[in-house]
Amino acid sequence: MAKPKTIPDNTLTGKLARLGLRTDADFIVHLPLRYEDETRVTHITDAPLGSPAQFQVRVLDCEVVFRPRRQLIARVADESGAMTLRFLNFYPSQQKMLQVGTLLRIFGEVHDGYLGEEIIHPRFQVCDETPVLPDCLTPVYPTTAGLGQGTLRRLISRALERCEGTAAMTDTLSPACLKSLNLPEFATAIRLLHTPPPTVRLADLESRKHPAWRRVQFDELLAQQLSLRRAYFARRTRVAPKLAANGKLTSALLASLPFSLTAAQVRTWGEIAADLIQPHPMQRLLQGDVGSGKTIVAALAMLQAVEAGYQAALMAPTEILAEQHYRKLRLWLEPLGLKVAWLTGSLKAKEKRTVISSVGAGDTVLVVGTHALIESNVGFARLGLAIVDEQHRFGVRQRLALKDKGQFAHQLTMSATPIPRTLAMSLYADLDVSVLDELPPGRTPIVTKLVAETRRDDVVERVRAACVAGGQAYWVCPLIEESETLQLKTAEETHAMLVAAMPDVQIGLVHGRLKNEEKAAVMSAFVDQKIRLLVATTVIEVGVDVPNASLMVIEHAERFGLAQLHQLRGRVGRGAAHSTCILLYAQPLGQLARARLKVIYENNDGFEIANQDLRLRGPGEFIGARQSGLPLMRYADLEDVEMVASARNMAEEMLEQNPAQVDAHLARWLGGREDLLKA
Ligand code: ADP
Ligand code: MG
Repeated sequence: MAKPKTIPDNTLTGKLARLGLRTDADFIVHLPLRYEDETRVTHITDAPLGSPAQFQVRVLDCEVVFRPRRQLIARVADESGAMTLRFLNFYPSQQKMLQVGTLLRIFGEVHDGYLGEEIIHPRFQVCDETPVLPDCLTPVYPTTAGLGQGTLRRLISRALERCEGTAAMTDTLSPACLKSLNLPEFATAIRLLHTPPPTVRLADLESRKHPAWRRVQFDELLAQQLSLRRAYFARRTRVAPKLAANGKLTSALLASLPFSLTAAQVRTWGEIAADLIQPHPMQRLLQGDVGSGKTIVAALAMLQAVEAGYQAALMAPTEILAEQHYRKLRLWLEPLGLKVAWLTGSLKAKEKRTVISSVGAGDTVLVVGTHALIESNVGFARLGLAIVDEQHRFGVRQRLALKDKGQFAHQLTMSATPIPRTLAMSLYADLDVSVLDELPPGRTPIVTKLVAETRRDDVVERVRAACVAGGQAYWVCPLIEESETLQLKTAEETHAMLVAAMPDVQIGLVHGRLKNEEKAAVMSAFVDQKIRLLVATTVIEVGVDVPNASLMVIEHAERFGLAQLHQLRGRVGRGAAHSTCILLYAQPLGQLARARLKVIYENNDGFEIANQDLRLRGPGEFIGARQSGLPLMRYADLEDVEMVASARNMAEEMLEQNPAQVDAHLARWLGGREDLLKA
């Protein structure tokens, strides 16, 4: 599937392509990052602090000094006062231009320097007595190495001229829409953003609150919604089996459970059940915080498929997680007389063949596994439902393979990384979303403690005492992003240190380099309480469910992201016992690390943590996890609740009423960036 790699080429065309600029239509939506006001000349004595301005000055004096390094210093003055221009790098030609007596127009930010007010590296040009000032603000465009603002400005301004009066400037929204949304026309907005008249307040432009910016932001969100919704409707035209069931198996399962479903589980199960009886594939995401009980909802959905005479598959990104699901499903479903098959890469070839042929013959109706499930040699006789846990952890290739395999099956994706509602609406516009917003009752909230690393001995003693008293604990090793080898070494050292410190406790070690069957053996010893303390790398981050474990230590907690800390912490607090999570941190703490630890200390709710994460990191990085065909937002703000909602509504309306305009709108906003979208 790998695309041929395009060699970055250093011609002008190559540089422009790097910015997604090919056609005139691409150029006109390449909008400024900021503006410089060269329409006015400011007096030196009126120079604003902290923002750049333009001055008209005469050179009083210019010399190269060595203080300590070689630099060019010019004294300049206007009628109001004098200041210094300092150049740390300069060309002889520049020095020549700064002849005593020369009149200059300079642009830059004035600082309080060693010699009084100064500008470092101002932009300057020699001018005559009555220079003509530009009549609009000067745009500064996002660019790439070796492509100057001057060139880019010229190219964009020519593209604008050529586009005037053509389809490239035609509005994709009707006047009535614009009126109802209170937005300016496309052409008006675009012209204003490239060449804003001096009457426009610079602050409105820079804060991107100006109506022209709002129009562009709306258009971009609309394009995103249109492309995702169109993909959604396209998949709805496919045929999938109606999984009508009599409810016998699901009722039997519910009756056998030691608990009853939460209201949220009942509701989301209902949403899924209703999808499954439709003649087109379900495309639903089940979002639920760590421990909210997604697995039982998945099991109920699988039973509906089985009752209707179809097969159901559940796939997880890691062997540990798949194994957990496998255990759970067997525990629940075998008493009902159902067999669950197990398929992962680590099975012996012969066992694998047996499972694959039984799945192919349709004798096996329930199968759990890793991505081995979607390998090309696995053919399902009549796959009705494919469930994927933590889909974002699968690679792109695997996601595509799954799409192929599940072409005609219903699909359910489960995620324990909840995201705020507006973000979900925007990112998952191609999915229906169900939310498990309630934890099963009887959980005692996890107590989180922040402990400086200097008190590690106390922590070791506390863990020992808990294990000796019959409890179980996790000890999570520090994340070392730069080196997997180093991470492994640290895990082994931590394990050795803990074994030495608590000879009376059975301690296991699990990390990513273990063979799958070794991993599985350690995990099942932990489940069976033969191991009391499990030293682990982040391989236990997702899904591991051992309710008896009620204590967790996370080393170097300051290195982990918020979502990761929340996931890790979610491994405890699964039983009735009081659970504690100890976050060991090393000082000094950076500002961001401190803020993260504060959030995780104060909050237990995954949705709230996701909100805070969004606030700390901004949406750009936050959504990095979803690499599907999602446009990267250049101008829009995903936190703008109202705008996302109205873009969503407008998208539905346009798709229904005006498909031609949908095409035009998508071409304008996504056209030159298709390669970015397909990554
Ligand atoms: P997650 O949503 O993180 O995948 P799980 O499905 O692993 O959560 O469920 C967490 C634990 O809660 C499991 O031990 C599960 O059996 C249990 N559980 C699920 N639903 C309920 C419920 N309604 N009442 C009590 N316990 C439940
Ligand atoms: Mg789970």
